[in-house]
Amino acid sequence: MGTIAPRARLAVALGVAGALWGLGLIAWALAGSLAPLIFFGYLGTAVAPGVAYYLGLPPARRIAGRRPLVAAIGVGMLAAALARVIAQQSIVAVEGLFFELLSGVFGAALLHFAIAKLLGPLIFGRVYCGWACWTGAALDLLPFRHSPGRLGGAWPWLRHIHLAASLALVAGLWLGYGYLPGPGAALAWFLGGVALYYLLGVAMALALRDNRAFCKYLCPAGVLALPAARLALLKVRGDPSKCNALGECVAACPMDIRITDYTRHGVRVLSSECIQCQACLNVCPDGGLSLSFGVDPPGRLELLRGRGGPLPVTIIPRALRRRRRGER
Ligand code: SF4
Ligand code: SF4
Repeated sequence: MGTIAPRARLAVALGVAGALWGLGLIAWALAGSLAPLIFFGYLGTAVAPGVAYYLGLPPARRIAGRRPLVAAIGVGMLAAALARVIAQQSIVAVEGLFFELLSGVFGAALLHFAIAKLLGPLIFGRVYCGWACWTGAALDLLPFRHSPGRLGGAWPWLRHIHLAASLALVAGLWLGYGYLPGPGAALAWFLGGVALYYLLGVAMALALRDNRAFCKYLCPAGVLALPAARLALLKVRGDPSKCNALGECVAACPMDIRITDYTRHGVRVLSSECIQCQACLNVCPDGGLSLSFGVDPPGRLELLRGRGGPLPVTIIPRALRRRRRGER
């Protein structure tokens, strides 16, 4: 992806601002509260100049340029979530989502997860994880920027177990004791959760020498976005005629996705692990990667880089399986 002309940058920045303001208006209409309009309006206004700045950088400087932008977005998101916790007594975290689902309350947590983990990923993939998560933004500032590859065995299951444990805790409290957090307790749950995630995220990054280790192995919120991310319309596409197969993109990918193998198979990057960070696009010396909108064959195809080589393929989409059979 080359340097982008000022007019195109302005158009993208205005598009981002318009989309966020639009989301705010929809949420305002649905929830009947001004809070989401203020939240998305603030984000739309604050993010647009940052997007224009990022796109104006030469590709080689965008990976570094993305970090302060994402940090600024993360701080804004955290502040906005805190404001909603205080104003609406809703825990904007996985546990808050479960409290609201079980008790039938449509609050800020449900709205947050519906947009960040379901509706957003259906269109834009896990762009929230790459650009808007306050935990991910902090982790990106740590020193282990080149992932050593994924761990196999039980590691990938930990985040699913974490999600199940959160559900069990909330279900136990609500169904067993009729417990619902009040105003002070909601704030304590939220701040406690944020602190715990930062603590675990930094500890895992240091121990495993991988900034995004928490995202890969322990975050329950990321798990919720996986199914929708697989169906995302926006994905990275590789042009086989421009791919030198040297793997600069794979080395730069913080989520260990074997981008060149997707290109070789003639499909877009179907991995639900992609966080749309654009590192691969920015390091490709031949401009062989781009963002594209489209619909992909059904099924999952996880091609990931492990610490000792490729991890086993998860499930091959039917269409690709047929094509491979035809090649043999
Ligand atoms: S996986 Fe979790 S911690 Fe990582 S960016 Fe996504 S929501 Fe944030
Ligand atoms: S495939 Fe590209 S956009 Fe997706 S996570 Fe990896 S580097 Fe980022």
